[in-house]
Amino acid sequence: MKTVPDYFGELVFDDRVMKATLSAEVYKSLKKTIDEGTKLDIRVANAVATAMKDWAVAHGATHYTHWFQPLTGITAEKHDSFISPSPDGGVIMEFSGKELIKGEPDASSFPSGGLRATFEARGYTAWDPTSYAFIKGKSLCIPTAFCSYGGHALDKKTPLLRSMEALSKQAIRILRLFGNDTAKCVRSSVGPEQEYFLVTKEMYDQRPDLRFTGRTLFGAKPPKGQEMDDHYFGVIKPRVEAYMEELNHELWKLGILAKTEHNEVAPAQHELAPIYTTTNIATDHNQLMMEIMQKVAAKHGLVCLLHEKPFAGVNGSGKHNNWSIATDAGQNLLSPGETPYENAQFLLFLCAVIKAVDDYQDLLRISVATAGNDHRLGANEAPPAVVSIFLGDELSAVLEAIETDTPYQGAEKTQMKLGVDVLPKFNRDTTDRNRTSPFAFTGNKFEFRMLGSSNSIACANIMLNTAVAESLKIYADRLENADDFKTTLNSMIRKTIKDHKNIIFNGNGYDDSWIKEATEKRGLLNYRTTPDCMPHLMDKKNVEMLTAHGVYSQEELQSRCDIMLENYCKTVIIEANTMVDMAKTQIAPAVEAYTADLAKSAAAKKAFDQTLVCSYETDLVRKLSILTDRIAAKADELKNALVSLKDADEDIIEESVVIRDEILRIMSELRLACDEAETLTARKYWPFPTYGDLLFSVK
Ligand code: ADP
Ligand code: MG
Repeated sequence: MKTVPDYFGELVFDDRVMKATLSAEVYKSLKKTIDEGTKLDIRVANAVATAMKDWAVAHGATHYTHWFQPLTGITAEKHDSFISPSPDGGVIMEFSGKELIKGEPDASSFPSGGLRATFEARGYTAWDPTSYAFIKGKSLCIPTAFCSYGGHALDKKTPLLRSMEALSKQAIRILRLFGNDTAKCVRSSVGPEQEYFLVTKEMYDQRPDLRFTGRTLFGAKPPKGQEMDDHYFGVIKPRVEAYMEELNHELWKLGILAKTEHNEVAPAQHELAPIYTTTNIATDHNQLMMEIMQKVAAKHGLVCLLHEKPFAGVNGSGKHNNWSIATDAGQNLLSPGETPYENAQFLLFLCAVIKAVDDYQDLLRISVATAGNDHRLGANEAPPAVVSIFLGDELSAVLEAIETDTPYQGAEKTQMKLGVDVLPKFNRDTTDRNRTSPFAFTGNKFEFRMLGSSNSIACANIMLNTAVAESLKIYADRLENADDFKTTLNSMIRKTIKDHKNIIFNGNGYDDSWIKEATEKRGLLNYRTTPDCMPHLMDKKNVEMLTAHGVYSQEELQSRCDIMLENYCKTVIIEANTMVDMAKTQIAPAVEAYTADLAKSAAAKKAFDQTLVCSYETDLVRKLSILTDRIAAKADELKNALVSLKDADEDIIEESVVIRDEILRIMSELRLACDEAETLTARKYWPFPTYGDLLFSVK
């Protein structure tokens, strides 16, 4: 039997394969491109393409595809076969360097937010050699960036790569100031913890809401939910175990470091976390992982729900983005060091993150904003929409001592003098984990917990990388010109703590009193919904910062803003239409049928014996009749509101506000009536599986 090391990465054109299949010269040249971003010679590209094709064909591939991440948030691929006619009537398998490097998919049906319409009609894909090519099904997949001919990024990978470069550039400046002359680059790394739900395919198929929108739009609370806390880390059920086993196998073949799996808090909810890796690759892998999770589920008669809030009143699914930055030599810059000098450097990087998160709270919120995640943030064990940082008591005390120039009340009561004293070791303290914070320091990395389970992690990391690059740039500008390095460093760190301590909060983020304190006393932002936050992407300070680092152009930002708001509107409109349809064609008729049977039964009883009261039937008939009327009325109201929305000639921001204030309100009123009807209607009349069925169906 093959062991994991035998087949790990067998579908990946990774370093091992490159070494084995490329000439020493070609390998060296390609490595230089991967590590240092040097331009690839066409001769080298041709040699790589041939090696890739031979390897892929030997592994059963017949096609190749430029695999990219358009702004839809999922991945896109267009397949071309390797075949090329030969004069004798047969075919040979061919793949050139040109085809490897550049593709020209018909880009017109991908969202561009006006970018292509304004500038040019077509787009192209460009090979990203830093992410290995791999085989999926019968195709060799080549990770690519997707741009317009004018060079505008139409995807998520391009700005992500740019943000990594921006961060590296500024971090290197800081490292040089601390005497590090050897680091070539600094990379951010991410370990994304992916949450998901599993339901049976059979039940899923009976729920139009799940099929069309990924979440349930109706459903009364089940008698048992997650209140017993018996699912978290519980024994994994056999069917789920079989699923996870095959999922791991598939992911390992693709070189994805699937590591930790367990049940989550809600019934039917699970998590899978890979070992962290470079952000760009982690992003590609997370996209692939979400795809494979769904594919493998289908093989097991299951459906994997990646929506952030598939069930109202039950925990939503998030994606914790564990983020750190390290040099190419592997030094984690968010890890407190052994010497005073390293500690000062650590504190500066820590301050850079604190400043970045405070200055760009809005960008972090925006980076996770979707219609789905709006339902999750601030509800049932998900961080609130207010961004704050958890540092833990020990580190907070150190910062306070630095700020106020008072003795640190730690293990030894010492006056903290930066660059002189050794910081206490911040051991990752498992008892001191704060699960309620949107942005928590966990010893040597930050865990950003606001991402929704279906989000691409690209956006959050673009904002995080760039905002931190901006802090570092401000620091480097000052330090490079400082007369006295130590004094300037000290005062800068102290100033950052003073100016930004409002963002630090070690208490319970789920507490209502925190939201009050955060917004009223501390002045932190609380953008509860996507329409609240998204327009702020175009705020002057945000545009200036993101363009200054070359991560987005103004036009690219505008396109993202428009597309995200369009997505929000489209998502809710599809949900609303689905609700109208389900209410009118399934729920109302089911309740009506039950009511009619009840009335018939009461009439029959009375015909049998005039003196019978039949209050059970008559009360229910009355209640259900009132509910049916309300359901019908609300469904009509929703339908009319959708029609008026379509007719109104509003811009996308206005439209999103109407959707938030009007459409979503009527949707929840309609749901309320339907859910109440569900609790009163005999089970055999109810037209689809209930929450209880869905949440406890997988054995
Ligand atoms: P949790 O208790 O939150 O599950 P884990 O230790 O299991 O924390 O780590 C969660 C994720 O964080 C994993 O994907 C792990 O690989 C990742 N991780 C660990 N160290 C780092 C780091 N230095 N940078 C980025 N991610 C990291
Ligand atoms: Mg975690």
